[in-house]
Amino acid sequence: MKIKNTLPQTFESADFSIELNCRGSNEYEKVSFPVKYGLFSRLKTRDYLFEFNLNHEIRQAKSRGKNWLDPSEWLKRTMGNDWVYYSTGGYSGVYEALGEYYLPNLVYPTNSLLGGKPFKEEAINEIIRNWHQIISQLPAANMPENFSRWLHAVREKTPEILQEKAQNLFDISGSRVTVMPPDARHVDYNIIPITICDGCLYKCRFCKVKNKKEVSIRSRQDISGQVSRLKRLYNKDIVNFNALFLGEHDALNASPELILKTVQDAWEAFEFQASYMKGNYLFLFGSVDSFLSAKRTFFEDLNPLPFQTFINIGLESYDQSTLDFLGKPITEKQVGLAFEKAQMINDRFSNIEITCNFVMDDTLPDSHYKALMALIRETVARPKPKGCIYLSPLKFDHPSRQVLYDFYKLKSLSRLPTFLYLIQRL
Ligand code: SF4
Repeated sequence: MKIKNTLPQTFESADFSIELNCRGSNEYEKVSFPVKYGLFSRLKTRDYLFEFNLNHEIRQAKSRGKNWLDPSEWLKRTMGNDWVYYSTGGYSGVYEALGEYYLPNLVYPTNSLLGGKPFKEEAINEIIRNWHQIISQLPAANMPENFSRWLHAVREKTPEILQEKAQNLFDISGSRVTVMPPDARHVDYNIIPITICDGCLYKCRFCKVKNKKEVSIRSRQDISGQVSRLKRLYNKDIVNFNALFLGEHDALNASPELILKTVQDAWEAFEFQASYMKGNYLFLFGSVDSFLSAKRTFFEDLNPLPFQTFINIGLESYDQSTLDFLGKPITEKQVGLAFEKAQMINDRFSNIEITCNFVMDDTLPDSHYKALMALIRETVARPKPKGCIYLSPLKFDHPSRQVLYDFYKLKSLSRLPTFLYLIQRL
């Protein structure tokens, strides 16, 4: 699919204005002001600002009124049809904590330590409840035909239709992505999900995102079916995507051939080389076992692909008593070996970044924090820019000052970039 070189077009009436063919930034950036990404259209009324993707589906909204919390904050609708409120986080140091300038506030329980309760705000709820009614009531007479067609098309994408589309997305792979890798923050979580391996190896006791599925690898035929259906589902808006997520919790468990073939097929089918967004990204999770078994040749084959690849490994703790407490059936020794291997790959392969997760909680023994410090400070000779460590609070809906304080302490001593892992679904 070629990006049409269409010029922006504007229609203005006394009640509202429409801008078609808006061109936002074509590169994901980490900046402290709101950036619009990709190709989209905008509808502005006296009170609201709405943005729509190339399939005429609402993708962002905000109020222009005084009751809006902050003019630089906005609501985003995800492909899974969740509304996410992006806040600056006030003075709480969002960038230091998350590596991003804006904090996604979610409507469902998660492990966030930051943020307030924006979904209790009437101005936010009003948009979520009424955006479609607001655009349906705009007087549409006497508009040029292309604007009138566009308005008709966005009105057709009702909340019910959008929910159905989200369900279609989940049906393609058989289930919803219940957790995205922390590294997906680099593309604002705008990923196309393909499941290549269901379930996970360990079924750890502490984990709130696991499912009951046994580990099983999808066939090539199944994956190719997913790719074709995803292409149809993302439809015209696919030019705004440049990132793949291979699911579910341990895609690294699939054979190197299957991983590489899936990436190649998806790259061709989704025409990532022609994406409006610069660069291509690949995200996947790996278990300690599958990571330790992965051969050097796999990374040698992955590195030259036209993707920046992020593989996220759940290590959780470098302390045996904590691993046992968490019900994670791996050993401290395996964690040490996986961490060492991650450093080696991060040093040698410029297009691959292995990132590691560890848990945090005020109930964990001191030995957990001591061992973690030994790993992320003492075994790393000098500060490195690559190989993020993500610290994941264990409890959901339980912001804790003590845990946040412990996080900043660990971050200040770590020799690797260290951030909080905010668990998000697609
Ligand atoms: S932490 Fe990972 S391996 Fe353990 S149960 Fe959760 S998804 Fe599975």
